[in-house]
Amino acid sequence: MSGTIRVPPPVNEPVLSYAPGTPERTELKAALRSISDQDADIPVIIGGEEIRTGRTRPLLAPHDHGLRLGVWHEAGAEEARRAIANTLEARREWASWPWEDRAAVFLKAAELLSTSWRATLNAATMIGQSKTAFQAEIDSACETIDFFRFGAHFADGIFDHQPVSEKGVWNRIEYRPLEGFVYAVSPFNFTAIGANLAGTPAMVGCGVLWKPSKHAVLSAYYNYRLLEEAGLPPGVINFVPGDPVGITAAAMEHPDFAGLHFTGSTGVFQSLWTTVGRNIARYRTYPRLVGETGGKDFIVAHPSADRAALSTAIVRGSFEYQGQKCSAASRAYVPASVWNGIRDDLVARTDALAMGDPTDFRNFVNAVIDRGAFDTITGYVDRAAAGPGSEVIAGGAYSDREGFFIRPTLVLAADPAHETMCDEIFGPVMSIHVYPDDKWSETLDMVDSTSPYALTGAVFSQDRRGVRDALERLKNAAGNFYINDKPTGAVVGQQPFGGARASGTNDKAGSAYNIVRWLSPRTIKENLAPPTSVEYPFMGAE
Ligand code: NAD
Repeated sequence: MSGTIRVPPPVNEPVLSYAPGTPERTELKAALRSISDQDADIPVIIGGEEIRTGRTRPLLAPHDHGLRLGVWHEAGAEEARRAIANTLEARREWASWPWEDRAAVFLKAAELLSTSWRATLNAATMIGQSKTAFQAEIDSACETIDFFRFGAHFADGIFDHQPVSEKGVWNRIEYRPLEGFVYAVSPFNFTAIGANLAGTPAMVGCGVLWKPSKHAVLSAYYNYRLLEEAGLPPGVINFVPGDPVGITAAAMEHPDFAGLHFTGSTGVFQSLWTTVGRNIARYRTYPRLVGETGGKDFIVAHPSADRAALSTAIVRGSFEYQGQKCSAASRAYVPASVWNGIRDDLVARTDALAMGDPTDFRNFVNAVIDRGAFDTITGYVDRAAAGPGSEVIAGGAYSDREGFFIRPTLVLAADPAHETMCDEIFGPVMSIHVYPDDKWSETLDMVDSTSPYALTGAVFSQDRRGVRDALERLKNAAGNFYINDKPTGAVVGQQPFGGARASGTNDKAGSAYNIVRWLSPRTIKENLAPPTSVEYPFMGAE
């Protein structure tokens, strides 16, 4: 086909409200009933073939121990090896498809998700990962759609980058998908992240082995089916939920392992990187390692901070999705003068947050993901309540009777090095250190040096000098920095997301910086007037 073909200019998918009386609410409620009543039997999928290994695990709802949604089949090393062989085979044809055909599959998936698949993906995320309707909507519907539409647009932009050509020569760059396969390993907390980790390398022509989190198998499975319906050929992405250790070993000892697209905890990413290092001589090519990992995200308030805005940002930024966002605020530094003005309001707002089952739309927070998370988080809460150096001033209660529920908790940490100020807790716990108003400068140093992470952070200041100080002094403390706003809720195309230090490789999910990692450029020089003599003109006789 001839013609300079461009994908349609993307716009962010509008967020539906789900207010009482809206059609989307009716549709979502029906999908929630249907998923709750189902008895799913989710297979491993290799080359489009459903494989039931017989090693089954239950599909659980974190907020309701009594709810059984069915089972999923675990893959292991053997299935992973089969899936890799199949992916390599499928990639051969897929990589040779014209770009517009590959892009069209993902644009179609975005369209389907915006319409017929929206309620199903949202309902699966709400029940399987315990999210409110709004949190599911901004994740499994809108962000996934944005990843696909903006991803295709950004890829177009990359392909436009071409070298200059001198007279008689035509230089060009061909953007080849990585040779081999990409291993996509996704976390539990965002359905959209799974879709992006597997989908983006596939969009630009790679073959992908996708291992979703065991806590997000339901939504990941529907995402896979969505892509299939949109026309993704079998095997381009193989769906292998299962044993992380066995699957990873099979993937990382394979000579065709060409890239890791990971989001999850820092410890796991570091262990995967170590394995790659150990195996480096086995590989046909140097693997691309892209990982977005943990955070200890901060809010720092200047004495000039707007009190109502600060208090709102602390509540929303810390407790939405139970604080289980990599970007969730989990430490705040507030000057004493401001603290005296917001403390009561902050405690009252936190204690007023409604908690319970996500299918009851009145709730603001739901359950944390599993027993392990519940035990870890409540351990921090108990130790903070016991002191010394800390006290619990809101929340602090929890129960695992019906589901893994932990009240949104505010810890007041007199000790700025208290564990709640330093560790990624990944739950509904916000730790606040109150500093003397005249210690603004020292406090910025403390924010910068307290944690090994550098994912998100926010400054609240009405005084421009406060904003400038924070921007300068915290330059390397966050990959996503917010001024007078909560540090969560990054939108694809608007705030490219990712952090450095122990928070990841900062390849900015949903941006051209990320997409370029799945491409291996080939430079082609064509000489239109090749020389025919060996001697150069300077060698001529005088
Ligand atoms: P996790 O590290 O437990 O799991 C992530 C993935 O790694 C899962 O698919 C899991 O099965 C796999 N895994 C676990 N152990 C493994 C092993 N030994 N070998 C190979 N694979 C293994 O993380 P999680 O609990 O699913 O997610 C929460 C973490 O993810 C938090 O640390 C959070 O900050 C981080 N996160 C970061 C971002 C970001 O953009 N920076 C976004 C979301 C989540």
